Amino acid sequence: MTATHSTRMLILGSGPAGLSAAIYGARAGLAPIVVQGMQPGGQLTITTDVENYPGFRDVIQGPWLMEQMQAQAEHVGAQMMYDQIIDVDLSERPFRLKGDSGTLYYADSLVIATGAQAKWLGAEGEQLLQGKGVSACATCDGFFYRGKKVVVIGGGNTAVEEALYLTNHSHDVTLIHRRDSLRAEKILQQRLFAHPHIKVLWNQAVDRFVGGGDPEGLVGVDLIDTVTGHKSHIETDGAFVAIGHQPATELFVDKLPMDEGYLLVEKGTTRTAIPGVFAAGDVSDKVYRQAVTAAGMGCMAALDVEKFLAEADFEAVAAE
Ligand code: NDP
Repeated sequence: MTATHSTRMLILGSGPAGLSAAIYGARAGLAPIVVQGMQPGGQLTITTDVENYPGFRDVIQGPWLMEQMQAQAEHVGAQMMYDQIIDVDLSERPFRLKGDSGTLYYADSLVIATGAQAKWLGAEGEQLLQGKGVSACATCDGFFYRGKKVVVIGGGNTAVEEALYLTNHSHDVTLIHRRDSLRAEKILQQRLFAHPHIKVLWNQAVDRFVGGGDPEGLVGVDLIDTVTGHKSHIETDGAFVAIGHQPATELFVDKLPMDEGYLLVEKGTTRTAIPGVFAAGDVSDKVYRQAVTAAGMGCMAALDVEKFLAEADFEAVAAE
C-alpha cells in the first residue's frame, strides 16, 4: 500500500533554509514535514570550518551546525523524512508530491529549499574521471590525496577554501584560474597567497582531464592560456572543480518561473508565482548564498506560509 502523508506545511530540503523554516513552522503549530533530499543537511555538510555563522566565537564545523539545526527542528515538532521528491503536481490543492520511496505527500503549502549543487566544467575526461581523481568536494575527497599533487579550478571563495583545506593533506596544491584576479574575499586571498604549499596559475582554462594507469585514474590536466592560447600540461593526482553552483530546480521547470535556474520570488518575500508555494535559500538566491541568509529566508518563508494559511479559503488537508 502507498504510504501517504498530509501536512499543512511541506518543506523540501534540509539545509539552513529548510530547517529554519521547519523551526518557525513547528513553533507556529503547523507540524511541518521536511523531505530531506539527496544531501541531508545540505551544502554545509560538505564544508569544514565555519567562522561566519553568528553566535559562535570559535570555529565550528558545518556538519555539526546542521546536526544542531535538525535537532532543534525535531525538538520543536518538525518531522524529518529521508526521501527525495521525484514528481510534483502544483496544479490543484492540496499540492501532491511523490517521493523516491513511493510515498505520496499532500500539502496545503510548500516551501522549496532544495539549495544548489556544484557545477562542472564540461571539459573532456571530466565525467569519465569523476571519482577517479576528479571531484567537486575537497572536504569529502581530499583525504585520498595525502602526500599527493592536487589542483583546484576556480577563483571564488569555494576554490580558495578548498585549496587551503587541501594543504591539510597535500604539500603540492595548485589553484588554476581563468583570469588574473580572484573573486574570493580578500582575507581568504591573503591566506592563499601566504601559504607556502599553494601556487596559483593565472589565465589558465582546463582543456582536458587526462587519464592513465590501470585502473585508470587522473594523471594530469591539459591547459590553455586564456590570453595567449598557449597549450600546456601539468601532472596531478587529483583535480577539484570549484566553479560555483547550480540551483536544484529541475522538478519545477515549466511549473514555476525561474531566472538562470533560480526560482523567482516576489521582491521582499519568499512567494513564488503560485499562491502557497514559497522558495527560500540558495534555490532562489544567486547573490548572497550564505548559510545565514538562507536561514533568514527560511524564517521568512515560514512567516509567509503562516500568513497564507491564515487567509486561505480552502479546506485544510490535515488538522492543525
Ligand atoms: P563563485 O560564483 O563565487 O565563483 C566561481 C568561480 O569559478 C569564479 O572565480 C569563476 O571565474 C570560476 N568559473 C566559473 N565558471 C567557470 C568555468 N567554466 N571555467 C573556469 N572557471 C570558472 O562560486 P563559489 O562557489 O566560489 O561561491 C558561491 C557563493 O558562496 C559566493 O557568494 C561565495 O561568497 C559564497 N561562499 C562563501 C563561503 C564563506 O563565506 N566561507 C565559502 C564558499 C562560498 P570568474 O571569477 O572568472 O568568473
